[in-house]
Amino acid sequence: MNLDKDSCDRIIDNLNDGLYFVDTNRVITYWNKAAERITGFTAAEVVGKSCADRILTHIDSEGKCLCTGLCPLAATIADGANREAEIFLHHKDGHRVPVLVRISLLRDQDGKVIGGVELFTDLSNIRANTLRIQELEKLALLDNLTQLANRNYIERALRSGFLEHKRMKIPFGLFFIDIDHFKKVNDTYGHDGGDEVLRFVAQTLSANSRPFDLYGRWGGEEFLGIIRNINADDLVQLGDRLRVLIEHAYIYHDGIKLQATVSIGATLVKEGDTAKSLIKRADSLLYESKRGGRNRLTFG
Ligand code: GH3
Ligand code: MG
Ligand code: MG
Repeated sequence: MNLDKDSCDRIIDNLNDGLYFVDTNRVITYWNKAAERITGFTAAEVVGKSCADRILTHIDSEGKCLCTGLCPLAATIADGANREAEIFLHHKDGHRVPVLVRISLLRDQDGKVIGGVELFTDLSNIRANTLRIQELEKLALLDNLTQLANRNYIERALRSGFLEHKRMKIPFGLFFIDIDHFKKVNDTYGHDGGDEVLRFVAQTLSANSRPFDLYGRWGGEEFLGIIRNINADDLVQLGDRLRVLIEHAYIYHDGIKLQATVSIGATLVKEGDTAKSLIKRADSLLYESKRGGRNRLTFG
């Protein structure tokens, strides 16, 4: 079957996966609709730019930047090998989005290499998160600024976590997350700048959450995460990954790059715990992270 160019364009634009082409200099030459949806950047904003240029700034789960030097697209263009990796791209709104990328070579009709293709699948479970937001909105359990669960909802979720723990011995963990030196962000960039930081920190949490976990805004620049059915090692690994992703999230506000780090206290529910004692322990661990220099996680 031979497809004309219009049909090809239509098919590509209807893909669920983001797709873009780069030439051999890594200048973006094509950007489909799903790429716009997943990244927040329109084709007009990115076509003609280098993909390493402030756009996606891919990182791996350790926060290593993949766009300078190690870029998988450049590597594929150089050696011809297909690549697949789970990475985190930068959304225009600031947060980090988990995606699975698949990269292959782009050749012209004569077989000459003319660039690379990257296809990326959104792993952030957007649909589940959207439904959750609608549900919370209906029940007035949503924090409007960050679109996360509000304090009232976190309190309910903690109660059900305890019930589950008591009845079925299902363990759960808690993160107490606080933005570092947030007052300075407000003082330097204004309250609006602070709000933007709050939003991308919150969205990085929810975009990278597992389906049964819950992140909510506890107050000010403090967030709680209720992490179901997890052991100590995995809890620490998960929290550290979130910390690194937030460290590498950023947004341009009046042309200035805003970034933030968070400190985390992480703990597992223990026999005899109440919501109060659990939160208090997580808060003390958070305080240790602050004392230890911030941008770190303390488990206890
Ligand atoms: P630390 O690293 O010790 O946590 O320092 P910090 O500056 O983050 O600590 P502190 O808790 O003193 O500052 C929190 C600031 O958060 C103070 C308050 O003005 C600001 N804040 C609270 N809620 C909001 C909000 O909704 N929007 C904005 N922009 N700022 C907020
Ligand atoms: Mg605070
Ligand atoms: Mg703070």
